[in-house]
Amino acid sequence: MNPAPPPIITSTAGLRREMAGLAPGLVPTMGALHAGHASLIARSASNHDATVVSIFVNPKQFEDADDFARYPQASPADVALAADSGATLIFAPTLHEMYPPGFATHVSVAGLGERWEGTARPGHFQGVATVVTRLIGLVEPARSYFGEKDFQQLQVVRRLHADLALPGEIVGCPTVRDDDGLALSSRNRRLTPAARRAATAIPRALARMVESARNCDDAAAVLKIGMAVLDSEPAVQLDYLAIVDPETLAPLTQITPDARAIVAAEVSGVRLIDNAGLHGEAP
Ligand code: AMP
Repeated sequence: MNPAPPPIITSTAGLRREMAGLAPGLVPTMGALHAGHASLIARSASNHDATVVSIFVNPKQFEDADDFARYPQASPADVALAADSGATLIFAPTLHEMYPPGFATHVSVAGLGERWEGTARPGHFQGVATVVTRLIGLVEPARSYFGEKDFQQLQVVRRLHADLALPGEIVGCPTVRDDDGLALSSRNRRLTPAARRAATAIPRALARMVESARNCDDAAAVLKIGMAVLDSEPAVQLDYLAIVDPETLAPLTQITPDARAIVAAEVSGVRLIDNAGLHGEAP
């Protein structure tokens, strides 16, 4: 039997009223929900009596107006998936509620928020950091759940959360993948079948790197192995593939126990990102 549909709250005042004294779990999303989001919501629901799923397509984190316009908006399917996964409240604020007239404060995380995705998408992490700070301030969650799929975002959020002494904890959750290894992403629906096949070179490259890191700690050698997989797929236009320190995201020359491989590439006009712990499970 399906659970009772969670209320959809669109105002910050309504949210505060509903959540007063509850210390819920918070799962921030931009809608277009899939099994990756469901895993975060289910994790929260297993830990908290109340779970708020926010659905807000944040214009501040899209530097490209077309990308923003193409981004899927919240739908009844999102509400159903959130409910089935254990959400007790959906917060889907209007733009006006999130950024009321006079809104003038921005949060930016220096260094960490400026490299990799920060270079490719100027202003992106400032948008993320600002909206996450505001959401945590509004919800006052006991824990906020984020996916490792967006590894740099998770680390930016951890940093601002610590620096600004925000309430609760930040919990990182493992990347959910399709059977072909591709990390679930709302952008995948824009891939043609051929582009999708080509895109599997991304998790294949990461998997080969994880395998080779078992008996090699030379980052350049392991990078070369990943690069060869990506080079073999002409439809994949690489932006970056790097082996980095997980805290600072600075490139490493020697692979440490918690080193991370991060990758971004465009496949027929769709920008995809992925990552893996080099001493973790292969994608
Ligand atoms: P988004 O709506 O794409 O901004 O994502 C909302 C949250 O879901 C973020 O914390 C993402 O990292 C997380 N997420 C997105 N895709 C996945 C995935 N495939 N596995 C796990 N978490 C994910």
